[in-house]
Amino acid sequence: MSLDEQVQRAADLIRHSHYMVAFTGAGHSTASGIPDFRSPGSGLWEKSNPMLVASIWAFSLNPKTFYRWIRPLVATLLEAAPNPAHLALASLEEMGYLKVIITQNIDNLQQRAGSRRVLELHGHVRAATCIRCYEEVLIDPAMEQLILDGKVPHCECGGVLKPNVILFGEQLPIRVLNAAMAEARRCDLILVAGSSLEVTPAADIPVLAVDCGAKAIIVNLQPTAFDGCADVVIHGDVAQVLPKIVEAL
Ligand SMILES: [Zn+2]
Repeated sequence: MSLDEQVQRAADLIRHSHYMVAFTGAGHSTASGIPDFRSPGSGLWEKSNPMLVASIWAFSLNPKTFYRWIRPLVATLLEAAPNPAHLALASLEEMGYLKVIITQNIDNLQQRAGSRRVLELHGHVRAATCIRCYEEVLIDPAMEQLILDGKVPHCECGGVLKPNVILFGEQLPIRVLNAAMAEARRCDLILVAGSSLEVTPAADIPVLAVDCGAKAIIVNLQPTAFDGCADVVIHGDVAQVLPKIVEAL
């Protein structure tokens, strides 16, 4: 089947849906210049063992090493802008089809594209929490500069501040996970965009949706184990394919 035909089939499913949910992963933001943590060559995990820098244990023992590791990522996030895939999902919400986006990404780009309902399974970098008194503070330009300067940000109580991202060894935020599972059970169409669905429990969400009777569309560069469950499978770049689907509506 040609790409145009697949795009038409995806648009038909969306048009006939009553409650559509999107599920996005790292591939959704690669066109914005944000590396996929897991793909070979991105460098993020190749130079450092994630357990030694980005686990909750490493953070507690040595926050300085964590901040040294995350500094280039913060710099990348500050420079990044939403790409056509983010804008396409924002349009689908605006058009009334898309009810909520469930994402594994921490980059805030989907909200910056204009999306209103986003469930962030792996947290975000808009705020940080003190690991001593649990006070939550917004990450403002001053704190971003501190991180870029290689400093470890501290709370007023003297405790170290940890960005609200989920590190290795931490549970996913339970309220967000429960809300995402409820959306998966409720939806009648799930659009998986830019996720290889390798990281559980997040990756179980599209499977749950299909188990509960939803139709599924997947757009991803590489084949995934979920392809067999989907009604439309498009192997392509989300930043090119999603705008085509919106145009076809
Ligand atoms: Zn504190």
